[in-house]
Amino acid sequence: MSSNPIPEQKCDECGSNKFRIVNDSILKRQYPFVAKTTLKMCEKCGAKYIVCPKCGALFTRVHLSIDVYGVRDKCPNCAFNIPEITSWIAKGGGGYWEKQ
Ligand SMILES: [Zn+2]
Ligand SMILES: [Zn+2]
Repeated sequence: MSSNPIPEQKCDECGSNKFRIVNDSILKRQYPFVAKTTLKMCEKCGAKYIVCPKCGALFTRVHLSIDVYGVRDKCPNCAFNIPEITSWIAKGGGGYWEKQ
């Protein structure tokens, strides 16, 4: 058994705990780290979150105008680090196309 159970998933925005897995090609195109992770959407308010690849907790919220101060590069539950987010923060954020 895992010593790190999946915590209750709760939306930062509205407090709902109902999520479903979604596929957002626009977010995936814009942010390289979204393409590497699972995306979940709050069924109540529509906020989208990256899911921690290690423990399954909600990692950080993503939307089309996130900046480097609005994302986590470490899982709030297990401290797993997503290197793509760290390098995106190091570059100062922005959309994918702006940095090419
Ligand atoms: Zn919500
Ligand atoms: Zn985690």
